[in-house]
Amino acid sequence: MRIVILGAGQAAASMAARLCAKGHDGPLTVIGAEPVAPYQRPPLSKAYLLGEMGLDRLLLRSAEWWQEQGVELRLGETATAIDTAARLITTDRGSLPYDALALTLGARARRLPAAMGGHLPGVHVIRSLADVDAIAPDMRPDRRLIVIGGGYIGLEAAAVARKLGLEVTLIEAAPRILGRVAAPETADMIRALHRDHGVTILEAVSIERIIGDDHATGIRLADGTELPADLIVTGIGVSPDSALAEAAGLAIDNGIATDDRGRTSDPAIWAAGDCASFPWQGARIRLESVGGAIDMAELVAENILGADRAYAPKPWFWSDQFDAKLQIAGLGTGHDRIVTRPGDGRHGGSVWYYRMDRLIAVDALNDARAYMIGKRLIESGRSPDPETLAGATELKSLL
Ligand code: NAP
Repeated sequence: MRIVILGAGQAAASMAARLCAKGHDGPLTVIGAEPVAPYQRPPLSKAYLLGEMGLDRLLLRSAEWWQEQGVELRLGETATAIDTAARLITTDRGSLPYDALALTLGARARRLPAAMGGHLPGVHVIRSLADVDAIAPDMRPDRRLIVIGGGYIGLEAAAVARKLGLEVTLIEAAPRILGRVAAPETADMIRALHRDHGVTILEAVSIERIIGDDHATGIRLADGTELPADLIVTGIGVSPDSALAEAAGLAIDNGIATDDRGRTSDPAIWAAGDCASFPWQGARIRLESVGGAIDMAELVAENILGADRAYAPKPWFWSDQFDAKLQIAGLGTGHDRIVTRPGDGRHGGSVWYYRMDRLIAVDALNDARAYMIGKRLIESGRSPDPETLAGATELKSLL
C-alpha cells in the first residue's frame, strides 16, 4: 500500500512514526510546503521567540530518523490538486499516486485585510518558523509592540516581548481576553499576571486600521485614538487549511470533515490535526491543539492499517506566560457552572467547568496538582459535587 501524507507538521510526524512502528512496509511519502522538516510549533511563541531554544531542539525527528525509517520526506513542495478518482496528487513539482492519503495540513493564521493595513511590512503573525524568524530582529528593548488579539498567541507573544524589554500593548476587540477558550475567572488571573508585568491590556476596543505608508507605524482605534508601534503582531485566530480538500470535492464542515475513524467523505482519504473536524459527544468539533494532533494522527495511522477504532480525544493544553504555567484539561465549551479554588501565591488557582453537573474541564494556573487531579477525574468520567470540590482541603480526596 502506498501511503502519502500531505502536510509536514506535528500530525504528519506522529502519523509517520506510528505507521512505521506498526509495521507499514510499503512506500510512505510526506510532503510539506515549508522547507523545514517537521518541527514543534508550541515553542514558537514561547522559548523560541525568547531566543532560548534553537532549531535543533525544535525538530521533531532528526534527518537520520526519517532516513532510517525509509520515509520519503519531500520538503518545499506544495500540493496543488487531488484527483480522487485517479488517486493522484499533483504538486508544483509533479505528481504521485496513492492508495491511502492522509491530510495533515494544519491551519493558517488569519490576517487583517489589506484594507485595514494588514499587508504592511511590520505586521506579523506567529504560525511558522519563518514567521518568528521575521519578528526576532525587532524583539529588542525599548521597541513598542502592539499585539492585536487576546488569545494564547497574543498573550504568549506579549509575555515574551515584555521579558525582552519591549513596551507592550495588547488590544482585544471582544469584551475580554481569552473569550473563545476560557471562563472569565481564568481571564481575570491571566489579565492580572500581565498587568503585574507591565503589559497594557485594552479590552472591548476595536481597531479602525493599522497606519503607515510603507511600514506599520501604529494603529488607529475606532474612536480615532492613534497608538504608535515599531512592530505589530496579530493573533486573531486560525482557519483550517481545507481549500485543497474542498477543491477535491471532500465534505467540509469547519475543516475537513471526518467520521469518528478519521476517514473523510472519500474512503481512501483520511485527515488529522488542526485541519480536521470530527464527531464527538453529539457535536462536530475541531481541536486546535498539539495533543489533539498527536492523538488523532496516531489513531488514523492505525486505522489506515485496518484497526477500525473510534477517536476519543482527551483534550489538554498548556500555556507559558512569564513565570506562570497555565494547564488545561478537557473542553469548557457549553459550561453552566464554574467552581474556583485558590492556589498558592499571587498568580495561581484553578477554575473548574461543569455542564449539567458533569465536570468537563479545568484550568489550573501554577497549580499542577489541580490539573493532574482534574484531568484524571474528567478522563474517568467522575464529577465531584461542586460544593465538595469548592470546600475540599485536600484535592486528592476527590479521587
Ligand atoms: P484564538 O484563540 O482564536 O484567539 C484569537 C483572539 O483574537 C480572540 O480572542 C479573538 O476574539 C481576537 N480577535 C479576533 N479578531 C480580532 C480583531 N480584529 N481585533 C482584535 N482582536 C481580535 O487564536 P490565537 O491566539 O491567534 O491562536 C491561534 C492558534 O494557535 C489557536 O489554535 C490556539 O489555540 C493555538 N495556540 C495555542 C497555544 C496554547 O495552547 N498554549 C498557544 C499559542 C497558540 P473573538 O473570539 O471575539 O473573535
